[in-house]
Amino acid sequence: MTIGKFRNHFINLLEDLYPIEELKSFFYLLAEKYLNLSRINIALQLNNELTHEDQSSFYQAVDRLSNHEPIQYILGETEFFGVPLIVNKQVLIPRPETEELVSWIIEDVDKKKATILDIGTGSGCIAISLAKKLNNAVVSAIDISNRAIEVAKKNTLINNINIEFSRVDLLNFEDNSTLQHKWKSKFDIIVSNPPYVRMKEKKLMQLNVIDHEPDIALFVNDDDPLLFYRKISELSKRYLKHNGTLYLEINEYLGVEMEKMLNEAGFKHVELKKDMFGKNRMLKCWQYEKTR
Ligand code: GLN
Repeated sequence: MTIGKFRNHFINLLEDLYPIEELKSFFYLLAEKYLNLSRINIALQLNNELTHEDQSSFYQAVDRLSNHEPIQYILGETEFFGVPLIVNKQVLIPRPETEELVSWIIEDVDKKKATILDIGTGSGCIAISLAKKLNNAVVSAIDISNRAIEVAKKNTLINNINIEFSRVDLLNFEDNSTLQHKWKSKFDIIVSNPPYVRMKEKKLMQLNVIDHEPDIALFVNDDDPLLFYRKISELSKRYLKHNGTLYLEINEYLGVEMEKMLNEAGFKHVELKKDMFGKNRMLKCWQYEKTR
């Protein structure tokens, strides 16, 4: 079968599950990977024959797509803020909302050397994009999952970036004397996109997320949805410089609760920000009287 005929076949096999435009784009992304051709060259070679071996790679992808697996996991890679990243099931696929959080930090930060800590780094998307855009930044990152840290480390290598990773269970961080030693010098910026989807919101989510992305990175109990944020705020009060700022991605329904919790925790200023969909999706907070 020719590449062109196979493309139509691929689309027919999946057209009940995905819009045609999306399937075309999946086909080209997979073809780029399996055939090692640029999109333009694929379009120019539609009359070439597709080997059985290549067909079988596509059929495996069809099976995985039928099972609602995200294309990013099938490809094993994605892009975040213009930065290439390896992804697998150990890490959440970076979201466009999180790019907005990163761009907010970049707008704010002094170009001088900033020290940054990313809590719950996952693929490393926030830490690595900040390190890449802010040349002089010194970036550290933590995660509870060793397997996520493995992915994040590979991502620092492919991006030629240096980040200090530590495996930390945020809920028990006070026991960690090594970190107390490492972080003596404190951070200008602490940033986190922790789990914030309440179990009761799970039914509103797509199967590709529920069935394939790591629960540990997504969900919190309905009765204590701010658990991770409380811990982050405690950690930040200890490890943020006096004039430092904490940046958080948040649950769109919990902006008011977040503001109240952070005020009670001693952050005098909390600024909420909407994402491109008009939802309360991020905030920054700080303790000092702002002069800048
Ligand atoms: N915004 C993500 C989603 O909708 C959730 C990210 C998170 O829990 N930190 O899937």
